[in-house]
Amino acid sequence: MKAEIIAIGNELVSGQSLDTNSQWLSRELGRIGIAVRFHTTLGDDLQENVDAFHVAFNRAELVLMSGGLGPTQDDLTREALAHVAGVPLVEDAVSLAAIEAMFARRNRPMAPRNRVQAFLPEGAEALPNRVGTAPGIWMRVGPSLVGCLPGVPHEMRLMYDEQVLPRLRQAGFVTRAIVQRKINMFGKGESDIEAEAMDLTARGRVPEVGITAHEATISLRVVGEGATEDEARRMMEPTIALINERFGPLIVGEGKEDVADGLVKLLASTGKTLATAESCTGGLIAHLITAIPGVSAYYPGGVVSYANEAKVQLLGVPRELLEAHGAVSPEVAAAMAVGVRDRFGADLGLSVTGVAGPTGGSPEKPVGLVYLGLVTDKGVETRRLDIGPEQPREVIQQRSAKHALNWARIALLPRATSEA
Ligand code: AMP
Ligand code: MG
Repeated sequence: MKAEIIAIGNELVSGQSLDTNSQWLSRELGRIGIAVRFHTTLGDDLQENVDAFHVAFNRAELVLMSGGLGPTQDDLTREALAHVAGVPLVEDAVSLAAIEAMFARRNRPMAPRNRVQAFLPEGAEALPNRVGTAPGIWMRVGPSLVGCLPGVPHEMRLMYDEQVLPRLRQAGFVTRAIVQRKINMFGKGESDIEAEAMDLTARGRVPEVGITAHEATISLRVVGEGATEDEARRMMEPTIALINERFGPLIVGEGKEDVADGLVKLLASTGKTLATAESCTGGLIAHLITAIPGVSAYYPGGVVSYANEAKVQLLGVPRELLEAHGAVSPEVAAAMAVGVRDRFGADLGLSVTGVAGPTGGSPEKPVGLVYLGLVTDKGVETRRLDIGPEQPREVIQQRSAKHALNWARIALLPRATSEA
């Protein structure tokens, strides 16, 4: 069984926007055991659509496409599909009523052109669209099952989940379930983690485990397979348990979770609060923390103290300390952490001061030199990071922020684990 995805739109082939629909659809089909063998992207041209459909219907039993279902002249999917199927376009009364109802709900008159969206190739089934005007199309063309979805990504995703997936099950295309779990770690390099995970990442292991890295977060991706999703999940459990046991304190979360999520979970479970003082990261740490909903109970706030004077005025860093050691120093990092903890009345204070570059470095204090400060009930500590003068500014800022968040996370881990 082969599947093909077709993405239609001039904006896609011209490079104006990226075809993310095909990526999303391929991943979803992969999860249910359907192998996508081809991606085709084409512009809004009737003959080119017809040609591409012929090719697809000749080599794939399932063809899903997105785009070209709008009401305008350049939306040609309906026409091209009818042409290839050798049938006329006929008006679908149910779809027309749904389009009219959608305009009525939005209190807008329906443009005459929207009526074309209710036309489907004869014999096709309309896929209802709850969130937009264009209905999708579901039909058989020769040996191929064909689904046409709207181009707007959120409309496409909803229609796939609600309309396409049940039809794929009904058609018997869903033969097995593939489940992925991504365990995210921070604090060690990819090669170090890989060296400790050789048995897990070995070729042919069941379940399969892969290693990937993104912005210094290293992920182990476990892929389970089974007749059902439950079965796939169950067969992964021993592997997940092994990963937890082996990498425990390094694990920050799962799926989309990163270092900040791991920190916030620990703030929540310990009931502690954290305040931040940032220089070279300019509020990035605050941003990463506040990107997580519901964090206000644990994060009273932070200070962006970029200039020396701001460190003095807003955090009470002694002027003499700045003069004696410079802003990028362990002494100032410690004073910033203590200052922000006290001003916000938080349990923990976290600070960052460093040289983000590309200018401002010196032989003693090169670009990429960063000091972190952390004050807890056990006192204040500092750490030095050497991120490297060759790194661009945004990488130095990103890494500094993640290391700082991770340090606070580690400090909140239960004793036995943090020392493991
Ligand atoms: P259409 O259904 O062709 O009118 O597309 C509507 C809008 O959806 C386009 O303007 C794009 O912004 C977006 N879009 C269409 N196809 C894709 C795709 N393959 N990936 C991501 N966005 C898309
Ligand atoms: Mg289009």
